[in-house]
Amino acid sequence: MEYFLDVVLPIPLERLFTYKITQEEADFLQPGMRVAVPFGKSKIYTALAYQVHSNAPMAYEAKEIYQILDEQPLVNAIQLKHWQWMAQYYMCTLGEVVRSALPSAFLLESETLVMPNKDAQVDEMQLGDDEFLVYEALQHQSALKIFEVSDIVDKKNVLKLINGLVHKGVVLQKEELYEQYKPKLVRYVKLSETYDDEARLEQLLNELTRATKQSQVVLSLFQIQAKTKKPIPIADLEKESGGSRAVIKALIDKEVLEEYHIQTDRVNFDGQSEESQHMLLNEHQAKALETIQTGFSEGKPVLLHGVTSSGKTEVYVKLIQECLEEGKQALYLLPEIALTSQLISRLRHYFGHKVSVYHSKYSIHERVEVWNNVMANAEKAQIVIGARSSLFLPFSNLGLVVVDEEHESSFKQFDPAPRYHARDAAVVLASLHGAHIVLGSATPSIESMDNAKKGKYGYASIQYRYGNVLMPDISLVDIKEATRKKRMKGHFSEVLLRAISETLEEGEQVILFQNRRGFAPVVECTTCGHVAQCPNCDVSLTYHQRRNQLRCHYCGYHMALQQACLACGSGTLDKKGFGTEQIQEELNHLFPDVAVGRMDLDTTRGKYAYEKIISAFENQEMDILVGTQMVTKGLDFRNVSLVGIMNADSMLNFPDYRAHERSFQMLTQVAGRAGRTQKRGKVLIQTYNPYHQILQQVTTNDYKKMFSEQYYEREQFKYPPLVRIVKITLKDRDFNKLNEAASWLAGSLRNVLGQDILGPEYPPVARIRRDYLKNILIKIPRQQSLVQTKNSIKRIEKSFNAISKYKSVRLVYNVDHI
Ligand code: ADP
Ligand code: ZN
Ligand code: ZN
Repeated sequence: MEYFLDVVLPIPLERLFTYKITQEEADFLQPGMRVAVPFGKSKIYTALAYQVHSNAPMAYEAKEIYQILDEQPLVNAIQLKHWQWMAQYYMCTLGEVVRSALPSAFLLESETLVMPNKDAQVDEMQLGDDEFLVYEALQHQSALKIFEVSDIVDKKNVLKLINGLVHKGVVLQKEELYEQYKPKLVRYVKLSETYDDEARLEQLLNELTRATKQSQVVLSLFQIQAKTKKPIPIADLEKESGGSRAVIKALIDKEVLEEYHIQTDRVNFDGQSEESQHMLLNEHQAKALETIQTGFSEGKPVLLHGVTSSGKTEVYVKLIQECLEEGKQALYLLPEIALTSQLISRLRHYFGHKVSVYHSKYSIHERVEVWNNVMANAEKAQIVIGARSSLFLPFSNLGLVVVDEEHESSFKQFDPAPRYHARDAAVVLASLHGAHIVLGSATPSIESMDNAKKGKYGYASIQYRYGNVLMPDISLVDIKEATRKKRMKGHFSEVLLRAISETLEEGEQVILFQNRRGFAPVVECTTCGHVAQCPNCDVSLTYHQRRNQLRCHYCGYHMALQQACLACGSGTLDKKGFGTEQIQEELNHLFPDVAVGRMDLDTTRGKYAYEKIISAFENQEMDILVGTQMVTKGLDFRNVSLVGIMNADSMLNFPDYRAHERSFQMLTQVAGRAGRTQKRGKVLIQTYNPYHQILQQVTTNDYKKMFSEQYYEREQFKYPPLVRIVKITLKDRDFNKLNEAASWLAGSLRNVLGQDILGPEYPPVARIRRDYLKNILIKIPRQQSLVQTKNSIKRIEKSFNAISKYKSVRLVYNVDHI
């Protein structure tokens, strides 16, 4: 009998691929193990075993696999199910989910490298245009990967081109196969077993008396051993004995000491657990906890709607405690890595070393370690705190999922596929595990509130801040008036400046929020009106003062600020608008003796950058913190009594049906950073439009009104949660082709699906990274089958792909969250 294996390749191809295996392999292999397989001409991929069978594929001759890479499945059955759901729901391939889900270190990769042939005599005149481009690039670089060659010649398929160059002897090809993860090995020492015998030990010590340094080392070893029963790292022995590596090495050579390795994890926390420490919930928290438990017992996800600083975290702690008591794993999802450091210390306080962390700022090595610990159901990974990617971890025994700040849009992944929403995917994950799930927020998303109102989710609420602290006092500052009367200092109204001075005098801290980074988003010539634009994208370049650069926030393009206008040469350039950098700069002039920090994407690039800023602010090394939306989210600062919003208008005017909901959430959240202890906090919102209904609702903390108004609008204009939406974005470098392709696609969709289709339309930024973009929006009534509609869309995509002139046009799907 012949045996075959279906595998998932981590690439965007719809179907599974079949390989030939031996009987032994068939007996050994289980779904979820990794195998190395050949694919295409010279590629080697890590694929995931899906199923073993004995049906030879009809369409092609099955190749043999190269190698089985695991002894045990790396991915369990629940994960596979969840990933399949994700691929289906978010309209991507299972391979794309696998690529995103597995730490890249698990994806053994074959990268075809193209290198210059140093020995060749190249006649440049004999090279074609594309060939010359590749040849030229290789004069400056030692090797190029396939996709880099693609970028250089701006073509998708370059294998033929490379083969041509190989044939002409201009380049060489190298196949590289490497496993990226290398466990960190710590070297340990122990006394050789020979000296377990006491007589021999005595003899040794006598012999060593002449070699004082060596005997010192051996004595130190005994001393350390007496103190701890644990393995002794060489480094510790070196330090304790004052002996050098050379002395220790001499003892190892003499076989007095023995060296050995234990694989250790890079991230070890030595927090002390204080589980025994009792934490008492107040009556509101206790009541919410009870309601949540009732919801759980009915098998429902529960929405916890608790105002800022009501003590939601402590409620989660209780739920986690219960989960651990049942011997199950808990997952705590956060929208933003910036929040993890505060939460880690809070959870460690209760759960000590049982808390692990998983997010993208962790190195591939650290991520592999957390993966393995979760897979082994190890004690140190009983609780995982993580950003959205922690949904992919190999939980086998999940009992609870907490989704904190569930309204946050950063739970949505935009690129690459799978373009999933972690909150929604978490609800599905929890149901696959039969686990409980709680979604918490001070400003629930319209979707979750809708689910709660319809009884699909349970609903618990806390209306009071912990310790009966009052909700902050929020006022609007009309800067239109102030600007007209020339009463502004830079971007600060007199009211805001006075409040800052008073706060600082009291020895308290200030947070200032401006939702743009950099110094100024627009640099305009006052003579001819020319605005510095990104050459790759349809946006103006933002001026960054510290580096004296103009930067694109979409593609990263940057250039030095020019002294004169690039169009007319005039030397008078005007910087319009303002970002966090400019606010910081103005503060330095207005309050020269005050320490001002800044938290935005530009200041938080390093691995511990967030932690540094947050702890410096907590320790009051700074008096004022200026930041983008990063400062709005669940941070808990004890000494902040004033929050200023520099300008609320740009948020409100954003062209998106969620803009009002988001503004309400963001403003309420940032306001919630103020006055979290005894004293009532103060919030000032600067705006040109103080009568805007959302601003009114923020000042009166009127979530209900916000909800009903937004809900009504979405009913009127048919937006989620009243309908479902799928957005298709078409991308191409050729403007005319894009337009033609988009019309074709929209037309076909209308033919098949009827009228609820908007577009094609250009998005607000209609060109990014040299690609022109166009959107088509499909609205699907709630009562219509989502699965069938998606299948129809996919069928139309197949016909679209069959049109050869549209080959270069890429389609990107976003479902629900666009
Ligand atoms: P939220 O997440 O709802 O904004 P937090 O959980 O951060 O609120 O709680 C606000 C503050 O109140 C925190 O400093 C927290 O330590 C404190 N707190 C909340 N509940 C309790 C409790 N039951 N006992 C002691 N302190 C509490
Ligand atoms: Zn000009
Ligand atoms: Zn750009």
